[in-house]
Amino acid sequence: MLERGHGSHVWDADGNEYIDFMMSFGALIQGHAHPRLVKNVSDAMAEGSHFATATPAEVEAAERFCRMVPSAEVVRFTNTGSEATMLGLRLARAHTSRRKFLKFEGHYHGWYDPFLLNAHGHPPELLGPVEEPARLPDSEGITASTFDDVVLAPWNDVAALEAVLTRHGHELAAVITEPIMANMGCILPRDGYLQRLRELTHDCGALLILDEVVTGFRYAPGGCQEYYGLEPDLSTFGKALGAGFPIGAVAGQRSILDRLTWSDHMVLHYGTFNGHRLTMKVVAANLDILSSANLYQRLHAVGDAAIAGLRGVFRRRGVTAVVQGFGPMFQIYFTKSDGIRDYRDYCKYADTKLYSRFVHLLLERGIYMTPSNGLHWIISTAHTEADIDMLVRAADQACVELS
Ligand code: PMP
Repeated sequence: MLERGHGSHVWDADGNEYIDFMMSFGALIQGHAHPRLVKNVSDAMAEGSHFATATPAEVEAAERFCRMVPSAEVVRFTNTGSEATMLGLRLARAHTSRRKFLKFEGHYHGWYDPFLLNAHGHPPELLGPVEEPARLPDSEGITASTFDDVVLAPWNDVAALEAVLTRHGHELAAVITEPIMANMGCILPRDGYLQRLRELTHDCGALLILDEVVTGFRYAPGGCQEYYGLEPDLSTFGKALGAGFPIGAVAGQRSILDRLTWSDHMVLHYGTFNGHRLTMKVVAANLDILSSANLYQRLHAVGDAAIAGLRGVFRRRGVTAVVQGFGPMFQIYFTKSDGIRDYRDYCKYADTKLYSRFVHLLLERGIYMTPSNGLHWIISTAHTEADIDMLVRAADQACVELS
């Protein structure tokens, strides 16, 4: 149980101190209790926290957002990433007058019913052939017909995608994808894959929804769409945008998002807490901080140092492991394979039990990380070179006990 946090460090209820590499599932891009954000929120509290109507803070947050995210002509804020993907899909359906959508195996887009198909790791013997993946719901309590509208495809495989789109392209409202597969750890797109995906989606008249809930504001001020030079029709955000406050966002072309304001045939998006003033104050200040020169350079440098340090430890200690990712986000896989490239690799070749043991050994040495191999290590602006040195020392000791 954790009691308090400051910068990159957290303390549990017994007073033990840890370096936090989980950072609240990546939300805490500025670490814990960033002084400017704390002051911002305390001042705002005294003036009234929520008005359930537009505020100057929301306008400032939206203007900053649209300056930073390349595809954002306009933005609509929600309270979570799950709400953002839900709204993104609704907008795509309204815009195209089509019902179905394509999601990829192993991609998580929040806990809205239709997205919970093959989002988690499942036993390899259940996966079915790549050409016709078995459909594996991730939760009880969802009616089977919900998934009638979902077309599944393996990710990082252009030929497989072309085959699926040949059959289903004409009926798709949207293709939704994470730019980096962040819910099976950290799996990078193959060179050119996302660009081809963009073209193929466009060719079949569907909208591309780029789910940047994890990657947004993490790799570059404009997220992965800036980093990889992509132009999604819609993109969804959360986590780092709110620096620890509950937030989500859908951004994209005005012609699509304007449907939220039409009086006839409107796409409905209600919510008591939408545009919450405290959150908007934090978002505006957070985006201002994230616009500072060299900040992303530093995030990448600190993350790359952690990755290089861990790779060095595994090599020296003779531990068969790969560290995947770059800069602000990465994951360790204990695997005999030379890399984890998609969902099926993860289900078959990642030794998730060994990973969990390793993380528990790190916890005993002052490093806080969740034992789920499906998540990823997060570097915030609060992490220092000293934190990375400590991580590398702890990993070195943990490797001795692992073998
Ligand atoms: N999309 C992606 C890619 C995510 O990783 C997540 C959360 N892990 C979500 C959507 C849902 O976000 P939230 O937890 O804020 O609802």
